[in-house]
Amino acid sequence: MSDDPAELVADTLRGLADHLRYQQALGTRALPLKGEYFAGPEAAIRRLEASIAGCTRCKLSRGRTTIVFGSGAPAARLVLIGEGPGEEEDRQGKPFVGRAGQKLTEMLAAVGITRDEVYICNIVKCRPPGNRNPEPEEIAACAPFLAGQLDAIRPGVIAALGNFAAQTLLHTKEGIGRLRGRVHPYGAAVIIPTYHPAFIIRNPGIEYRKQAFEDMKLIRREYDRVRGTTAG
Ligand code: URA
Repeated sequence: MSDDPAELVADTLRGLADHLRYQQALGTRALPLKGEYFAGPEAAIRRLEASIAGCTRCKLSRGRTTIVFGSGAPAARLVLIGEGPGEEEDRQGKPFVGRAGQKLTEMLAAVGITRDEVYICNIVKCRPPGNRNPEPEEIAACAPFLAGQLDAIRPGVIAALGNFAAQTLLHTKEGIGRLRGRVHPYGAAVIIPTYHPAFIIRNPGIEYRKQAFEDMKLIRREYDRVRGTTAG
């Protein structure tokens, strides 16, 4: 982060604007004068998770078993975002705990990152029936929760897992093959898109695996940069 006081003020104001937009999207019309709003990422994530309980904002609520809010370290500098819960995630209430989750754990381990040091969530928090893609109104209904998670955690690096997450976060129709392999600015953070672990399972060819490993190394490099632990 810059030491320039003007930059610090500008950064704080940008953060405040994001936070107010998020509150507005949740339907907040008045804010307390003295508050608990900036009580830190753990409290903010806890409060947000409590606020999603019993959510019926979209039709995905009708078919779900559990809301899969997210898991990991609320103070993480790296957040990984997938598409939506699958069958196993819906059962357990945790993201990426099925086969794709095992592959994700391996992808992280390949660059020396463990799941408990990162935060993992999805674009939508309830399972789309038959694992279909989430629909625009479902994404819109869930957007305040994702915005709230990012607002609470303030990660430096966001890994967008797969076409769907990358296109939603970057507001583009460009495919993952073109979006991956580079760093996209995203406010004070960066987004690094890579293949969805389920895609790697379905397409085990060396070329995709090599590209995914290159992306993971890029994620590792940016993660080290934002934590100030880059060697040399
Ligand atoms: N696929 C996703 O996109 N998210 C999960 O949580 C599990 C599988």
